[in-house]
Amino acid sequence: MTYAPTLSGSYGQILHRCVSCAGENIRYWRHKNYQYTQGNTEQVFLIYRCKSCGTGFLNQPPHPQWLHTIYQYSGQALTQPISLADVLGREAEFPNCSIDAERVSQMADKLNLSGNQRALDVGSGFGFYTRALRVKGYDTVSINPGQYENRVFKAMNGEEPLQMMFEQYQTEQPFGVAVMSQVLEHLLEPDRAVKKVAGLLVNGGVYACAVPNFNSFLVKLLGTRDNACLWVPEHVNYFTEKGLRQLLSRHGLQIIKVEQVTRIPPNALSKRLKLSGRQAALMDGLVKRIQRPFTGLMNRLGLGIYINVYAVKTA
Ligand SMILES: [Zn+2]
Repeated sequence: MTYAPTLSGSYGQILHRCVSCAGENIRYWRHKNYQYTQGNTEQVFLIYRCKSCGTGFLNQPPHPQWLHTIYQYSGQALTQPISLADVLGREAEFPNCSIDAERVSQMADKLNLSGNQRALDVGSGFGFYTRALRVKGYDTVSINPGQYENRVFKAMNGEEPLQMMFEQYQTEQPFGVAVMSQVLEHLLEPDRAVKKVAGLLVNGGVYACAVPNFNSFLVKLLGTRDNACLWVPEHVNYFTEKGLRQLLSRHGLQIIKVEQVTRIPPNALSKRLKLSGRQAALMDGLVKRIQRPFTGLMNRLGLGIYINVYAVKTA
C-alpha cells in the first residue's frame, strides 16, 4: 500500500498545549523530513517539546484522515498482508511481542484486584495480548483498525477484532483490565483516549500501557534519525516517563509500577553496518553477548527503548 498522495501536505490542527501535561510551555525542538516509501513527495514535520514534562509531539500533526488511511491497513508499517506463519516465524527468530504480551498480561492480572475478569485490548495488532489475556481467564474485547493485522489476529484467536479506531468504540460494560501496547504514540488526542479508557475501567481495574521512550539512548544517539520512537508521521507523540505519569494521574489512574524494556535484534548492528558472511556472524554473536548487561544498564538509567506503565483506577 502507498500513502495516498492526495493527502500529502494535509496537516491537522496546530497544538497550543502539551499532549501529556496540558502545559502551555511548548517549544519547537527539531524537524524531520519524511520521505514516502513510494513516490517523491517529501514533507517536513515539526517536532515540539514540552519544557515542563519533556513530552514531544508533531506540531502540526498529520491530518486525522491521513492517519486513518494509513491505519485501515496497518498500524505497524506493513505494506502488504502477512500470514500468521510468517509472524510466528519472526517471533521464533527474535521473540518480542509474545514475551511482552505474556509479561504485561501477567502483571496486569496480578494487580487487578477488582474481581472483574473482562479485558479490553486496544490496538490489538497480531493478537498476542488478547491470546495471553485469555490464557489468564479473561473475556476479551479487542479493537484494531488495521485489516492486515486483523487477519493474523483471526488466525491466532479464532475471530476478528472490532475493526475500528478506539474513538468509535462504545460499550456499557466495564472492564477489569485495559491494555494499550504501542498505541498512545499513534493517537492525535492521547488525553481523550486515556480519559475514555479510565472511564471504561471499574474501580480497582488496571490500565497497562507501553510506549516508545523519547528519552531512549537511541534518540540521544541518533537524534531525528531514530525511527523506534521518532517514526514520522505514524507516531505523533513521543512520551517521557514524567509526561506519562502526569497524563494518567490527571484521569484518576494511579501509577503502581513503571518499567523500561530494551530489546535489540542480534543482527541490528551487522545490518546497519552492511556486513555479511563471517563478519556478520561475529558481530551478531557479540551483540548477543553484550545484550543483557547493556540493555539492563540503559533501562536503569531511564534510557530504555520502551516504557511500560501499570496504573490502577481509583474512585
Ligand atoms: Zn508536558
